[in-house]
Amino acid sequence: MSPREEFPTKGLEGAPSNDIGWHFGTLVPNARGSIVCKLCGKVVKGGITRFKEHIAHKTGNVAPCPNVTGVIRESMMNVLKESNTKKIDKKRRKDEFLSQLTEEEDEHEGFIDEVSAIRQATRESIQSQHEWHRREEFRRSTGGWDNI
Ligand SMILES: [Zn+2]
Repeated sequence: MSPREEFPTKGLEGAPSNDIGWHFGTLVPNARGSIVCKLCGKVVKGGITRFKEHIAHKTGNVAPCPNVTGVIRESMMNVLKESNTKKIDKKRRKDEFLSQLTEEEDEHEGFIDEVSAIRQATRESIQSQHEWHRREEFRRSTGGWDNI
């Protein structure tokens, strides 16, 4: 039996969604994201996922529920892991998407290289023109290379 079948939330009074967490907690009225644990009476702030961590004894964000049984705790941990896997999938897709973007950016950089190469060439040609002018002036002022 999957945890969802084991702890049904359908038709549960006051549950804002069919999230399995509502089987064990009740939303505190007028306190957004605060949930009262039906097992120990503790108020968990931070939303239903945080509350499920309280039930699952997933440490880090919230104090573990002292009254939860081992079976429920493990089931809830599985639910959390399951939703974590989904998140990782989402993240992986995002990473792939981002790496595609980066590849496009690389092409863009190539374009910039080209532009700067053209700029460099232009600068060199301006310099050689300048050089030519300088020689030309020198030639005129000295009356030609022949007189050197
Ligand atoms: Zn509790």
